[in-house]
Amino acid sequence: MTKLDGNVLAGMLVDVLGWDATASDARCAHCGQHGQIALAVVYMSSMGAVARCPHCDGVLATFVEAEDGRVWFGMPGISALEVAR
Ligand SMILES: [Zn+2]
Repeated sequence: MTKLDGNVLAGMLVDVLGWDATASDARCAHCGQHGQIALAVVYMSSMGAVARCPHCDGVLATFVEAEDGRVWFGMPGISALEVAR
């Protein structure tokens, strides 16, 4: 498993949201801290990615690539996400 920062999520965020949210502010549902997605701690594996809060290590978001090509995107730890306009 490879440990990276949130910038690695740029392409995946474009795929699921339609825009690059790495510069967007996100609030952690676990500890209430917030910051840019780019500052998240991301663990990459062959199955996908897990983004964790840099403050409390809680899971912010998950990206799982299934064998059939589908992508499963979860945001279990983001209580609010800034949307660029
Ligand atoms: Zn947190």
